[in-house]
Amino acid sequence: MIQIPCPWCGPRNEEEFSYGGSAEAPMPALDSQSTHGDWHAHVHVRENPKGPHREYWHHTAGCERWLLVCRDTRDNAILECRDASSGPEGLPGDEA
Ligand SMILES: [Zn+2]
Repeated sequence: MIQIPCPWCGPRNEEEFSYGGSAEAPMPALDSQSTHGDWHAHVHVRENPKGPHREYWHHTAGCERWLLVCRDTRDNAILECRDASSGPEGLPGDEA
């Protein structure tokens, strides 16, 4: 069981959240040019990296905010969790 420390609600079980895709690659554009296939690929077709991985999660059964989570895929430890609007800069795994 993964516990995600929502900045507004505190630690909650992952069952309250919906996975929103990798934050390692840019999301498809939010316009009519993006297809269902683009979004399917972004959310569901992904690599399985070992180590820190930046991901979007939606607190569906809580505050309904989008979060940017850095999760270590080796042990599911949450290294950082913040509001998604802040962007991925400075999170573990950020090479910039
Ligand atoms: Zn929340």
